[in-house]
Amino acid sequence: MSTQKCRECLAAFESGRPTQLYCSPSCSRASRDRRRAEKRRATSRATRQTLVAVERANAQERLLQAETDYQRRLRRETTSAEDRFHHAVLERDKTIDQQLTQLRHLAAVNLDLCGELAEAKAQTTELRLEIARVLHSQRGDAQDLMRLAARLLQLSDHLGIPLDRPTAEIYRRRGWPTSMPARAR
Ligand SMILES: [Zn+2]
Repeated sequence: MSTQKCRECLAAFESGRPTQLYCSPSCSRASRDRRRAEKRRATSRATRQTLVAVERANAQERLLQAETDYQRRLRRETTSAEDRFHHAVLERDKTIDQQLTQLRHLAAVNLDLCGELAEAKAQTTELRLEIARVLHSQRGDAQDLMRLAARLLQLSDHLGIPLDRPTAEIYRRRGWPTSMPARAR
């Protein structure tokens, strides 16, 4: 017999076998249950850690996939935007070319019109001078004609030969008197 200390409750007990570790079957059972519980906890902890690691790996995988998708979409959008920009620039250049062509055409037309306008002005000036010459000439003719008519009326009155009808008609049309004033006879 020897005195030993129970590993579970730490109480001293008398034992016939040196290999006996516990004072009673209940302490032995309690110790076994506690160790099993510890083992379960350890297993559970390990499982949790594994799950966390798997979840983290999955999350990283998803993140990488999202990053890849984003990069691909970004490249696609960038290419599309560049295409649209290039197309817009080409369209703008075309419009500018058309407008330049139209402007050059209008400038040429304007130049022609300027030439025609100068020519028309010169012609107008010539016509004005011509009209002035004609008017001057007509006034001279009218004065001569009136002088001849007055003289013809004097002679007609003096000779006692009345004006023939067509001649008298000319006098009336022009507003000239067809007989001499009474005091001139
Ligand atoms: Zn005990």
